[in-house]
Amino acid sequence: MSVSAHPDPRFQQPDATGHFGRYGGVFVPETLMTALQELGAAYASARQDPAFQAELRQHLQEFAGRPTGLYLAERLTRHGGGAKIYFKREDLLHTGAHKINNALGQALLARRMGKQRVIAETGAGQHGVATAAVCAKFGLDCTVYMGAVDMERQALNVFRMRLMGAKVVGVEAGQKTLKEAISEAMRDWVTNVRSTHYILGSALGAHPYPMMVRDFHRVIGTELREQILAREGRLPDEIVACVGGGSNAIGAFFEFLDEPSVRLTGVEAGGRGIRRGDHAARFEGGKLGVLQGCQTYILQNDDGQIELTHSVSAGLDYAAIGPEHAYYRDRQRIGYAYATDEEVLEAFQLCSLLEGIIPALESTHALVYALRRAKEMAPDQILVVNLSGRGDKDVQQVAAILAATKGQAGGIK
Ligand SMILES: *Cc1c(COP(=O)(O)O)cnc(C)c1O
Repeated sequence: MSVSAHPDPRFQQPDATGHFGRYGGVFVPETLMTALQELGAAYASARQDPAFQAELRQHLQEFAGRPTGLYLAERLTRHGGGAKIYFKREDLLHTGAHKINNALGQALLARRMGKQRVIAETGAGQHGVATAAVCAKFGLDCTVYMGAVDMERQALNVFRMRLMGAKVVGVEAGQKTLKEAISEAMRDWVTNVRSTHYILGSALGAHPYPMMVRDFHRVIGTELREQILAREGRLPDEIVACVGGGSNAIGAFFEFLDEPSVRLTGVEAGGRGIRRGDHAARFEGGKLGVLQGCQTYILQNDDGQIELTHSVSAGLDYAAIGPEHAYYRDRQRIGYAYATDEEVLEAFQLCSLLEGIIPALESTHALVYALRRAKEMAPDQILVVNLSGRGDKDVQQVAAILAATKGQAGGIK
């Protein structure tokens, strides 16, 4: 693939071997090398094919609901007393989060490669629901791997997937959550690689996934640029997004990487605080290692064993971060912060109360940082939060937490 020959310098990452500097690469069993090469070649051709891009644009518009709005959060802005706070409304997309951008792109690619069967992993269920939806739409056979613990926690999403025709397979290994679901999906892929495409759900894994998933989400940033220029006549001072694997963040940031006036900040899950096993903030104590196909920052012990992670939001609860984030962090182009569960629960209620928007717990991490940061900024400055998803999926969990801590839950009367 000649990605490094692209005239725009931002496209020189990853290089021809799938590396963003020292991060990324292809760390998979021999049996998957051919599949990844085939996928890389198919994607390189699709990326340059105007017909493929036009069809994707049409489905993004008619099926997913793009473009998403840019919304001035007036009451939160007043509450903060500093910078103007805008939301990029990915929460308004079909199936409730940004995940559909990538699921649509990869489903079209599967069809282009002549693969009739799709597999995917899912944690909270958002990526599984997006994948089930596009498979139903395109008539593809769909199997979703999900940790048994997550299936119990997200029973409603399991039902949604099944309603749309997906087979949901529970994974009983290890912690019975996302990491094990990815391993099981990779095992399936090794066995059925001829008929099957694996739709990975974040900017993670072996090359070409981190690049490809990023590209399918770049529409967030390109729309954002146009919308803020139309509305304010200038670029924002800062853009903030939560970072699980890193797909919604890199999708929002990519367009601005070569705009030095725009500060970019990713927000990780601080969980119960930065103590071993209590969080999922890979840049707070993570170390260079290899997990599930790529080299990046990973929460691991001195023997290289993966640490347990924790976050109130299942979508951010993963031990590794996308390799492109590690690269831009080293180059100090993207800054990183974290928000704790407690801060997130408070901001979740505040946003609902002041804006009439219930944000996903994942997205609320970005909001916590934005509220903190806006206070330090001037009223004529602009801060944009990428609101990656809506919180309907989280209300039961939050209600249970608030009920258990009743008396402290001041926001809900
Ligand atoms: C899955 C998910 C995330 C985390 O994934 P990224 O790849 O880091 O974007 C964030 N927000 C929402 C709403 C999600 O569903």
